Amino acid sequence: MRMTRHLAIALLLLSAGAAAAQALLVHNARGLTLDERGRVIRFDALQIGPDGRVQAIGRLAELPPGDVPRLDAGGRVLMPGLIDAHGHVLALGAARRSLQLRDTPDLTAALAAIRAHAQARPQAAWVTGGGWNQAAWQLGRFPTAAELDTAERDRPVWLSRVDGHAGWANSRALAIAGIHRDTPDPTGGRIERDASGEPTGVLVDAAMGLVERHVPAEDEAELAASLDTAAAELLALGITTVHDAGISAAADQLLRQRAAAGQLPLRIYGMARGSDEAFMARLRSAGPLRDLGDGHYTLRAVKLFADGALGSRGAALLAPYSDAPGTQGLLFRSDADLLAQMRAAAKAGFQVNVHAIGDAANRQALAGFEALARELGPRSTGLRHRIEHAQVIALPDLPRFARAQVIASVQPTHATSDMNMAEDRVGPQRIQGAYAWQRLLKAGATLACGSDFPVEEPSPWAGLYAAVTRQDAHGKPVSGWYRQQALNPVQALDCFTRSAAFAGHAEKDVGLLTPGHRADFILVDRDPLTASPAALLKTQVLQTWVGGRRVYERQP
Ligand SMILES: [Zn+2]
Repeated sequence: MRMTRHLAIALLLLSAGAAAAQALLVHNARGLTLDERGRVIRFDALQIGPDGRVQAIGRLAELPPGDVPRLDAGGRVLMPGLIDAHGHVLALGAARRSLQLRDTPDLTAALAAIRAHAQARPQAAWVTGGGWNQAAWQLGRFPTAAELDTAERDRPVWLSRVDGHAGWANSRALAIAGIHRDTPDPTGGRIERDASGEPTGVLVDAAMGLVERHVPAEDEAELAASLDTAAAELLALGITTVHDAGISAAADQLLRQRAAAGQLPLRIYGMARGSDEAFMARLRSAGPLRDLGDGHYTLRAVKLFADGALGSRGAALLAPYSDAPGTQGLLFRSDADLLAQMRAAAKAGFQVNVHAIGDAANRQALAGFEALARELGPRSTGLRHRIEHAQVIALPDLPRFARAQVIASVQPTHATSDMNMAEDRVGPQRIQGAYAWQRLLKAGATLACGSDFPVEEPSPWAGLYAAVTRQDAHGKPVSGWYRQQALNPVQALDCFTRSAAFAGHAEKDVGLLTPGHRADFILVDRDPLTASPAALLKTQVLQTWVGGRRVYERQP
């Protein structure tokens, strides 16, 4: 129901095409924004120029008089559109359009959902989906191919885990991929096996590729449908810019077309998939793409991987896992290999964004950035490189972020989703440097906040709530999980606006509503700086504007 309405609005917007922004005076608002230095400014009127940028903010009587159309904000809170510094737009759309197991309470319910989904799609060659989590099912082990066979035996089934770092195949999919007891674990990956060495159906990290390469890619129409589904949902949540952490060559093509045609309703700052060598070679020779379609699409970052995820114990730790002393995870590449990838991207003028979860991976990425700074100086540091997730960091490594001018791109909801699991994995010592936002800030690092949707829900209100409370949506734990690492409300807003914009080289364009910035703003039903945390979580977005054009309005 909700999705249908979002989609209808998106289609309406797209048919409006590249309609130019108009000068507009928004008044009777409870306006708030941060300024360039991160201080809170309040105002009640916002003047937008014909270029879709803010001309002035202040009290209505103080603004320059002019004969422009007016919008009465009805006393609502007006604030900058929010920026998600790490999400996966097309994956969100695809997830919404495919089988979702996130809310299944146990394996039996999941198998029933898979069976129903497969039966409803007799034409599909593969049954795909994701969101499963054996921990939420309280299974105490991974599910198996034999179990999946009971839902669908004839066609291959491939379902990604909720963190995207493991996949569950049925017997047919394993056969198509040619995975059997003699198949070795690929570098950076693991084939789950039973006591006799027989593959059981779950493939971790790099081993996922063994099946994935056989899954037919989404065609152009499917990609476009996923984009529209996701964009409509994000705009309805008040997100006006997303940093997409994994743009494929096909997605890049679609986004260039849409942006150039004025048919991309939100702004996307892309990180190209560094694993696609042909795509990378093309990008290195073409160089970065900046502000296509009046700032709607930029591709000037490259996403690389240092390790996997904590839940599947694919995150690379400096010492063994506290709850599995025989293992410490895997670095995906040698130091020299990762540095070579980083160097090639930086030399071509791309920001380098390295996924690093474990303390060994964060150390490897930091060392790489330090080497680049030594070799290339400001030509590298000026690119504002980032570590994506920056989740478990050895305490002595915290100051290296500021010294090497590396941004920590963090996801507040990961902390509250992971809290129990994370502490099991790394124990009471190492947890001190995990999700340690205040320690990072104190050490001089810049934080940019995001959600990692669709791994987490895309709501930035859930992100702001998790950032300020360190509690789950039910208010647990009551005192907050390592509450001293929580952000205060202004820091949290900064992390989802001003600092996120900086992390996307766009602090002069978005994130703030001071004069000169693009008029990307939202009207909401409460003040995020004064609302109680419980109220903050329930914030409703009433209108979303991008570049001075209304792109979403909540239906009564
Ligand atoms: Zn991600």
